[in-house]
Amino acid sequence: MDTNTLEHQPPIADETTADSERPHILIVDDRPDTLEVLTELLESRYIISTILDGEHAVSIAETVRFDLILLDVELPDLNGYDVCQKIKSSALNKNTPVMFVSGCADTEHEIKGLVYGAVDYITKPFSVTSLIYKIENHVRIAGYQRQLETLQGLDPLTGIANRRAFEQRLHSEMQRTQRNDSPLCLIMLDVDYFKSFNDFYGHVDGDACLKKLAGIMMNCRGRSSDIVARYGGEEFAILLPLTDRRGGIRYAKRLYDMVKSQAIPHEDNPTGHVTVSMGLVTYSGKDLLSPHELVEAADAGLYRAKKLGRARLCVASLTQAFH
Ligand code: GH3
Ligand code: MG
Ligand code: MG
Ligand code: MG
Repeated sequence: MDTNTLEHQPPIADETTADSERPHILIVDDRPDTLEVLTELLESRYIISTILDGEHAVSIAETVRFDLILLDVELPDLNGYDVCQKIKSSALNKNTPVMFVSGCADTEHEIKGLVYGAVDYITKPFSVTSLIYKIENHVRIAGYQRQLETLQGLDPLTGIANRRAFEQRLHSEMQRTQRNDSPLCLIMLDVDYFKSFNDFYGHVDGDACLKKLAGIMMNCRGRSSDIVARYGGEEFAILLPLTDRRGGIRYAKRLYDMVKSQAIPHEDNPTGHVTVSMGLVTYSGKDLLSPHELVEAADAGLYRAKKLGRARLCVASLTQAFH
């Protein structure tokens, strides 16, 4: 790597930026020395995660949303092109810029990388200055994309629907339910003991945990019309159109099992792992309720789940919620 003569100084590392505001970069390379060099170059400015093989890279990209991914072409298992394609078809990272950093210097490889969805292709040995500027540019452009997503109703941290988009969909789905007599299921979910998770592991891990949980909620959906939204903080709303109580409970059970199988450590949770509490309500369309009242009803179930010891689902009845 050309680390010696730098005609232009790379952008100054800003160590004062709070961790939660630093863009998160995933670096995938089978050579630990390359990972080390890149981490050292970038860690003052970005949050860095490193992975040595393709399968792991694909699986982490299904649960954590990154701001940029640096990807090697030759990996021990999958090749970098396949990894790129899989990441580009994941729900969370489909818009994340992928940059190849590869030892294969010919144009054919470069074109292939771009065809597979990468925004850039850099060959080793690379100029450190040029690499840093390119990363800056791609991260900045990805930031604009995020802002656009927020305007389009997406939550910037997790990439799922935001509260505003949820409220719009809730309103229209309730109207559809009233017209068609088709059931609508709403689940409100809250992460248990999350304040102490942050206190114990720090805000960056807290954010990563929220991203992971959002990914799990998305992956548990049975239909693409099911909506998973970040309602605020560590609270999520799941709206399942054309779904009755049994269907909603089935979703909640799948989600509960999936969260359990991920076994995310949580020192201050009595189970030793991250758990969630949920409140579920179904709407038949018969009563004329406002969206706010339906959320309140699901919240009443959630409140009961918390009171009964957390890590569970409580089904709320609409009448019970208003007496
Ligand atoms: P309970 O089991 O009763 O839900 O307890 P709790 O600690 O989860 O609830 P509380 O409402 O006291 O705390 C919620 C915490 O969630 C507070 C805040 O630190 C954390 N939180 C909210 N939004 C975010 C976020 O975007 N990122 C991170 N890392 N933490 C968040
Ligand atoms: Mg390699
Ligand atoms: Mg809460
Ligand atoms: Mg909580």
